[in-house]
Amino acid sequence: MTHTLNADLHCHSILSDGTLTPEALALRAFKQGVVLWSLTDHDELGGQERARVAAEGLGLRYCTGVEISVTWAHHTLHIVGLHFDPLAPALVNGLAAVRAGRIERAQRIARELEQVGIGDTYQGALRYADNPEMISRTHFARHLIERGVCTDISDVFARYLSEGNPGYVPHAWASLSDAVHWIIAAGGVAVIAHPGRYKLSALQAHVLYEEFKALGGIGIEVVTGSHSVDQYREYTHIALDYGFLASRGSDFHGPQESRIELGHLPPLSTLLMPIWHHWV
Ligand code: AMP
Ligand code: MN
Ligand code: MN
Ligand code: MN
Repeated sequence: MTHTLNADLHCHSILSDGTLTPEALALRAFKQGVVLWSLTDHDELGGQERARVAAEGLGLRYCTGVEISVTWAHHTLHIVGLHFDPLAPALVNGLAAVRAGRIERAQRIARELEQVGIGDTYQGALRYADNPEMISRTHFARHLIERGVCTDISDVFARYLSEGNPGYVPHAWASLSDAVHWIIAAGGVAVIAHPGRYKLSALQAHVLYEEFKALGGIGIEVVTGSHSVDQYREYTHIALDYGFLASRGSDFHGPQESRIELGHLPPLSTLLMPIWHHWV
């Protein structure tokens, strides 16, 4: 029965803002009992081959993945792409364009933090970014913790770097339409990541789901490390109402930073059709 399969289709490596290598993640996923795994680095495919080789060496089934940053109606959304060809030019070139603005954005974040008396954060954040092109707010967060400005990641985002707080810099990511089309052009499936995290009104959420479907999007994350138990139920109903396939993923970023361990998630409701149904 594919509902009870321990699939974990969302996590991050040092190629974006995770703290482990693709190889270490593969081993960790395998040891935690994951049987279908995907590495979904933000806007970056550099870890895909490493993840696949490491997973298959362990007998762990691998599925290509990516988490694309999208700007939609002034909101930042994340769209996960799964089961695509990682060499497809439309996707590869599209992601390169999404990554392009990150260094300049990081310099602006540093200037904003300087204005509230926290100087020299750019170099500090960069030290945490193995892939400088992918410098992210998470790397700033680690640096702010190291400096003693904040106690942990949630403390950072409660007081800095998030909308309305010092160090927030609005950024134009990919359009929803581009992100979905790149994924589909690469033969993959597009999934709305952690829908419970977006601050959308009920009407906006409805418009998003309809627009995403019209573009060819077919999935939504129901069971994710970003959702509460109530939200597992809420998004089970959303998936059923809109006819979305359901996905499941921890959004693991590293041993010290993630609420949920790889593979340690409840199963999808048996009412749902898992996104992996056609592949396994
Ligand atoms: P960026 O892509 O540079 O905007 O960074 C976004 C990343 O910051 C996300 O992928 C998360 O890893 C992290 N993040 C954002 N908001 C929060 C939050 N409230 N708590 C913990 N991590 C967060
Ligand atoms: Mn992240
Ligand atoms: Mn995300
Ligand atoms: Mn993620």
